[in-house]
Amino acid sequence: MSECSNQSRIEAYHDGELPPEIAREVQLHLIDCAPCRDELRALQSMSQFVRSFSPAEMSSVAIDRLHQQVDSLTAVDTLRFAKRLSSLAACLLVAAGVWFASTGQKSEASPAPWERAAVTLQLDSATASAQTGDADTGQWMLASLNGSRESNQGD
Ligand SMILES: [Zn+2]
Repeated sequence: MSECSNQSRIEAYHDGELPPEIAREVQLHLIDCAPCRDELRALQSMSQFVRSFSPAEMSSVAIDRLHQQVDSLTAVDTLRFAKRLSSLAACLLVAAGVWFASTGQKSEASPAPWERAAVTLQLDSATASAQTGDADTGQWMLASLNGSRESNQGD
């Protein structure tokens, strides 16, 4: 995997965390560097998705959309997505916590299996079989990540 040394800056650039002069350098660099442009595009589409997502719509529709998002990524993107997923999971946990609190449902006492899976990228199989509905969400996350990585390398 050949990575441009500037790629570490792209996330900070995307998040608006760079001082203006560095941001300009990155902007100029983006003109000539396709990997960095891809990186930025991937970050943008992920952020767009996260912004459009609310935990109240953790429905099959939302899951399908996330599925499509993951399926559309390349193997390299998938690894990035997995890294990015931890920040996505943090957003989800905060939002889900607010949502659970406001609807009076269980929250921090015992995180749902999909929440744990999202944070750790590992699925506790004992809990998974106990609460199949929630666990499905975690399972497809893992399946998508593993599946698209394998299918991309197999070709
Ligand atoms: Zn670059």
